[in-house]
Amino acid sequence: MATNIPIGVRTVSSVNPATGEVLRELECAGDDEVIAAVSRARAAQKRWADLSVRNRIAVLREFQRRLLEKKSEIATLITCEAGKPRSEALTTEVLVVLDAARFLIDNSYRLLRDEHLPHGNLAAKLKSGQLIREPYGVVGIISPWNYPFSIPATEALAALVAGNAVVLKPSEFTSLVALELKSLLHAAGVPQDIFQVVVGDGGTGAALIHSEIDKLVFTGSVATGKRIAAAAAERLLPVVLELGGKDPMLVMDDADVDVASSAAVWGAFVNAGQTCLSVERCYVHRNLYQAFLNSCLEKMKKLRVGSGLDPEIDVGPMIHEHQLEIVEEHVRDAVARGARVLAGGTRLPDLGRNFYMPTLLADVTHEMCIMREETFGPVLPVMGFGTDEEAMRLANDSEFGLAASVWTRDKKRGEILARQIHSGTVMVNDVISYFGISEAPHGGMKASGIGRAHGRFGLEEMVRLKYLDSDLMPRMKKVWWYGYGANFARQMEGFLDFQFARGIWKRLSGAMRAAGLVKRRRL
Ligand code: NAD
Repeated sequence: MATNIPIGVRTVSSVNPATGEVLRELECAGDDEVIAAVSRARAAQKRWADLSVRNRIAVLREFQRRLLEKKSEIATLITCEAGKPRSEALTTEVLVVLDAARFLIDNSYRLLRDEHLPHGNLAAKLKSGQLIREPYGVVGIISPWNYPFSIPATEALAALVAGNAVVLKPSEFTSLVALELKSLLHAAGVPQDIFQVVVGDGGTGAALIHSEIDKLVFTGSVATGKRIAAAAAERLLPVVLELGGKDPMLVMDDADVDVASSAAVWGAFVNAGQTCLSVERCYVHRNLYQAFLNSCLEKMKKLRVGSGLDPEIDVGPMIHEHQLEIVEEHVRDAVARGARVLAGGTRLPDLGRNFYMPTLLADVTHEMCIMREETFGPVLPVMGFGTDEEAMRLANDSEFGLAASVWTRDKKRGEILARQIHSGTVMVNDVISYFGISEAPHGGMKASGIGRAHGRFGLEEMVRLKYLDSDLMPRMKKVWWYGYGANFARQMEGFLDFQFARGIWKRLSGAMRAAGLVKRRRL
């Protein structure tokens, strides 16, 4: 493919994972370009922050209108660059962003406005307090390829409505989707310097971290997340880290096997298993184990694998061969340690280099990589358990803690079990879909990350909280200022009794001793 990029310049290629066709080659932004982008963003940010929230909401409304208008075109681009079926591009990307915009349009004004903070401490009654939410300034976003539109867009919309400028470093595999997001935002009225994209690889991402950004929102693997946290710590750069997962699905003895197996098949193979929230480990009560496996097998036979542009396809290609090799290695390791392959377990070379057959593994154990490391591919490993306690122990036996699901006909039982699972989210009788509930916070615990995206808590990540305190008696010297002495100590003890003692008489006597505080001489 002909390009005008000079020889020797670092580039990234946008490739259709289904066909291997190079869609475009792009120059990586170097350190100087990243620094320049951030300084342009900083220079423009104050004006953007000075607009009222309502004005910025109006821009989001226009963005939402334009996105709806271009939904088909954008879904096709996502499929071409990331491989997922077009229907998934519409549901898990376009719909998620339209709804995130809806949430911010409806709620940002209320959530960002100043808040009166009443005081309970009697000593501070003559003061009025307010919580003020200020934009950080320039927010850097580094995003992955698996949800190339919904992840950076939801984060950017929250940052922008809060008054920040944004510099986005998208995944090197999905630059075109990010550039399309940029066009949409600019067309909707976001100034050029307020939303910028620096295309590039990890080196460009590293340059962004070392630039003068005020906050970083990173989504990606645990390994990169740890490197980023270390670099950010050097200059105390605040970070949100949305990292990998190894999400367990627990099918309890009273679950509906038909419904749970459909969920497992969808949850494991959506986006060819390349979803941070996908079902990566499945535990089924022994009474249902065989029936569950049979039901999954039946459903998997009907899955159609191929190019995501074909509307009849259920499972598309993986993003690139390296990701496929990780899946192969995990399956090989599982089989060597005694797992049974009930379906799949092979590449589909006739379809292209990046296709792997949806795979069902039975009799897996926690000694296998497939149950410990993030596989990020179309594999559903299933393990049996005997008791609720065993299920909880297995679910929590992981370094990750992103999300989990519990399957039972008894909602109350499901909620009790959900509280015992160590993860950022637990769904009872569904998987993954909470990512599309814009009100719901998204984020992990343990190695799955720090901080939250989406909804109220995602918006809070985009602002610095300032406490503003105004004294209501500016001409009065405070009673706790200098001028200490035995009297003051006695009066103060009285004041403490007055406020905190148990029993009315003790409190009254305290009040009497404290009365002199008001008249005491201060420096
Ligand atoms: P990755 O960590 O390889 O890359 C993520 C981003 O970081 C890319 O833009 C990459 O260019 C950049 N990067 C790489 N090295 C860097 C460095 N040293 N400094 C700065 N930036 C650097 O991850 P990926 O393969 O793109 O995405 C898959 C991973 O992301 C999986 O682990 C998945 O679970 C995780 N993920 C998590 C969530 C979530 O919300 N928790 C969502 C989607 C994906």
